[in-house]
Amino acid sequence: MTPPDFGRFFLPGPTEVHPDILAAMQRPMIAHRGQDMSNLLAGMQPGLQKLFRTARPVLIGTCAATGFMEMAIRSGVRHRVLSLVGGAFGHRFAAIARSCGRDVVQLDVPLGKTVEPDMLRDALQRSQVDAVTLVHSETSTGALAPLEELAPVVREFDDIVLLVDAVTSMAGSPVETDAWQLDFVLTGSQKALALPPGLALAAASEKMIQRAQDVPERGAYLDVVAYDEAARNNQPTNTPAISFLYALDAQLKRIEENGGIEPRWERHRAMRERVEQWVDDKSATLGLGFLPVQDRRSWTVSCVTLPDGKNGRSVAQQCRERGWTIGSGYGDLKEKTIRIGHMGDHTPDGVDQVLAVLEEVLR
Ligand SMILES: *Cc1c(COP(=O)(O)O)cnc(C)c1O
Repeated sequence: MTPPDFGRFFLPGPTEVHPDILAAMQRPMIAHRGQDMSNLLAGMQPGLQKLFRTARPVLIGTCAATGFMEMAIRSGVRHRVLSLVGGAFGHRFAAIARSCGRDVVQLDVPLGKTVEPDMLRDALQRSQVDAVTLVHSETSTGALAPLEELAPVVREFDDIVLLVDAVTSMAGSPVETDAWQLDFVLTGSQKALALPPGLALAAASEKMIQRAQDVPERGAYLDVVAYDEAARNNQPTNTPAISFLYALDAQLKRIEENGGIEPRWERHRAMRERVEQWVDDKSATLGLGFLPVQDRRSWTVSCVTLPDGKNGRSVAQQCRERGWTIGSGYGDLKEKTIRIGHMGDHTPDGVDQVLAVLEEVLR
């Protein structure tokens, strides 16, 4: 098989960036306090709001997604937070909260599992918290939390804000910021948006902004109140990564030209289904399985379990020798699983190709 120019890099972040996007980044600089910058930021808002499914301004930061996780904690948690943990990124949210001096109540589920509504209600009845952190698509295990059902449970309680890491769900599967009444939803540029790493994006509810105004020592660089005000005025907070804004602008236009966000979700669903079908077909001959159960599988990253005698790291290495990149497992799952990042600008046909390579390696 002749490998294609685009479509051989299936890491679950960063993802492969389309040549048109890389080209858009070559444009010359503009003044960050000038009219051109305001126009650029204002021009992106409608596309960003469609992406986040929100009428709120979308905040753009020059940092890794982890920066906005810290924003969520520093601006959104008064004293104590309930952190839902089913993998490495759930852990990270809890660790950030601890490092910012907040009390953390941790609700752990086994790797590959998700917190379910009854468990969440029970945990909230037992502990007084003022915020909940949740990872929608846990990239380390490929598990997708039932966010649409969990969000109403949080609202059964008074004065709790829901802080959502949607880093690998946003732009790849439904995230309904307003309809699900999410207080803070964040993502990064290098996952399902298929941009180079370097930007964080978020939407903050009115309730989140009011909460933040009462939280002292939110810090300066990642203060959600400052970001909200700047976004409403089509201004950056500080000198932004201008070249990355060009890339975002170009990608929002590409998404619009390709029919908007819903066909993008459908393409991701189709990619997940290709992997599911393949694992089903090969479970007997190759001894493969899916880590998360059906209906709890991320649309953007598939975590596939390997039979005894196969090692995730060497499987990924053997793919690399053939010119293709997939992810090994993450953390404790490094050896026992592989992860295929089928997100961003990848296609179902491209997924078929990487699966064919994998099959060769696993046989
Ligand atoms: C990649 C990822 C992050 C961290 O993103 P950075 O940009 O590296 O900070 C956080 N959460 C999830 C679910 C991720 O997949």
